[in-house]
Amino acid sequence: MTLLLSIDLEDVRDWVENGEKYQPRLRINTERYLAFFDQIGVKATFFVVGSIARQNKALITMIAGLGHELACHSDRHIQLDKQSRRQFIADIKRNKETVENICGQQVFGYRAPTFSLTEQTMWAHELLSEAGFTYSSSVLPAKNILYGWENFGEKCRRMASGIWEIPMTLHSLPFFRIPICGGVYLRVFPYWLTRYSVNHSMRTKLPIVSYLHPYDIDQEQERFMHPDLHGNHLLNALMYIGRGSVFKKLAKLKRICEFLPYGHYVRMRLERGIIPDNVAIENIGAMET
Ligand SMILES: [Zn+2]
Repeated sequence: MTLLLSIDLEDVRDWVENGEKYQPRLRINTERYLAFFDQIGVKATFFVVGSIARQNKALITMIAGLGHELACHSDRHIQLDKQSRRQFIADIKRNKETVENICGQQVFGYRAPTFSLTEQTMWAHELLSEAGFTYSSSVLPAKNILYGWENFGEKCRRMASGIWEIPMTLHSLPFFRIPICGGVYLRVFPYWLTRYSVNHSMRTKLPIVSYLHPYDIDQEQERFMHPDLHGNHLLNALMYIGRGSVFKKLAKLKRICEFLPYGHYVRMRLERGIIPDNVAIENIGAMET
């Protein structure tokens, strides 16, 4: 069983009004992730916002030096439906160049801000492919109050432009289509529920796709209203729950899953020739594990 491990490297203060008045916590939280990953012997993918990379060059170099994968998470974390195609091209190019120049390695992966790659913005796959990306993990394949591509399906797919899309893994119960190993859900739900869902996913033979943020492990962060919650205090309270449980849950999941960076997984599948490059998209099923 494979779990694709990732951190979306962004500073939550950037989306909060007057966010700069709160303590900077990104570096310390990222270093805690790095120490934990080292402790349990795993590598992850860090999807990095370009502006964050420019402000934290030493941190980016450290992540790369420890053998983790660096990938892109847009240059300024603007959702795809709020950009024109021209703006999107400029954004991903700047993001890719920034990260590559700092870490000295080529970057292959991309994740859209807030999983905002949907049926309405599906043009992004082709532009990502043209910009030199091999894979994207930007789709939440369900109806969602923010962004979702309802009919995308749960399988990894090679899109017509050649880029792989690795959609978020959702809980298997109907009417409960939430990411089982995504930040808030991993924090808030008890481990037995996560484990139940992971067990079910094992039967699909698809990798479990996860995401976490620096703040998901931060128990010392000051309290403020988080973005995209429309001022809802109940939802905001959830943002602070379970932050002390993330490492414990990941350590337990590590016993039943092999943790891999996304790029490693895609390369492995392509090298094994499971999906020949010339197969038409309609003939491609899951990337079988
Ligand atoms: Zn993000």
